[in-house]
Amino acid sequence: MLLEVQNLTCNYGSVPALKDVSLTVEEGEVVALIGANGAGKSTLLRTISGLIHPMSGQVTFLSKRISHLAPHAVVRLGIAHVPEGRLVFAPMTVVDNLKMGAYRRKDQKQIKSDMERMFEYFPALEKRRKQLAGSLSGGEQQMLAVARALMVSPRLVLMDEPSMGLSPILVETVADIVVNMQRDGLSVLLVEQNAALALSVANKAYVLEIGRVVLEGDAKVVASDDRVRKAYLGG
Ligand code: ATP
Repeated sequence: MLLEVQNLTCNYGSVPALKDVSLTVEEGEVVALIGANGAGKSTLLRTISGLIHPMSGQVTFLSKRISHLAPHAVVRLGIAHVPEGRLVFAPMTVVDNLKMGAYRRKDQKQIKSDMERMFEYFPALEKRRKQLAGSLSGGEQQMLAVARALMVSPRLVLMDEPSMGLSPILVETVADIVVNMQRDGLSVLLVEQNAALALSVANKAYVLEIGRVVLEGDAKVVASDDRVRKAYLGG
């Protein structure tokens, strides 16, 4: 088991955000987490990456308890987080953003070859190597946010709403990116309001409603569930 979340409960002050949530990601798996606005999806990712500490329950990564660790320690263990809203370093170039992703690594040769691999993944970024991140289009910034996370050389990538605000063509690009990441051996926990996208690329899916897991299983089975079709797939 790569990641195991057990009975996680999180509050913001007195506001409950997650209630007794359990979830697993196996090595090499793409797992979708779907649910409406405010269901707690981002909170779950933020708890896994150490930005929030749970009230109760635990997170285990490669058999190590991580729910008490600080974010930098979680990253070092191999979990990269692509937060919602394309948080790139706007005043820095594309190349410098990618270098920031690798700042804890020492293997310069490998870093260089990973950077070239990112430009193969995202040819649009290659043309803009020297351009400031803030001057990229929304879609390009999203690609850069993903590429920067991959420069951490993670085992598991947490992606928060990568399709948000993108044109339909770029939404397809997001799906391709996830498929490529899985082909390269990465595991992905994908949070999406675009349930159709998430379920089309995932092996397994969880549906979160008001902080609780209400349905889980094989992504194809979840996608054919009547409630899911009505609530998240437009009938
Ligand atoms: P979205 O798609 O809108 O990001 P989400 O499923 O990711 O939704 P969360 O952002 O995890 O949901 O929010 C879960 C609940 O916690 C919501 O009720 C939200 O209002 C609340 N919440 C989130 N962040 C905070 C915060 N910093 N302080 C207080 N309450 C918060």
